[in-house]
Amino acid sequence: MSSKRDTLAETFPVTRTEEEWRAILSPEAFRVLRQHGTERPGTSPLNAEKRPGTFACAGCGAPLFDAATKYESCSGWPSFFAPIEGAVGTTIDRSFLMTRTEVHCARCGGHLGHVFPDGPQPTGLRFCMNGAAMAFAPGEG
Ligand SMILES: [Zn+2]
Repeated sequence: MSSKRDTLAETFPVTRTEEEWRAILSPEAFRVLRQHGTERPGTSPLNAEKRPGTFACAGCGAPLFDAATKYESCSGWPSFFAPIEGAVGTTIDRSFLMTRTEVHCARCGGHLGHVFPDGPQPTGLRFCMNGAAMAFAPGEG
């Protein structure tokens, strides 16, 4: 039997105690990244972010998504069709009576959002991310 929260059994390059995370993260980022929370749709300023740049993990700073892969999904959450190679991991999330694919930072294990098979080409995937779990750094490359 696999548990709902397989990520808890994984180990990541960056690990901190709950108290350490609480000290360095905003309350909303802590709730999303460390407690698998979901921000209310339409609340993240990153929804409207259209500049070139990189979206990084708000927990550990790992680069997660290039702005070139961001698109407007009209879901109210920042959406991407592909992550930076190796930047994220996935687990099966069976909470809320649904089976979804959970997405987390490969470096610190922080919860980022979910991925759905209804995205645009070339991947056909929609990485539906919480803006609170990310920090945007404008700039090329
Ligand atoms: Zn991270």
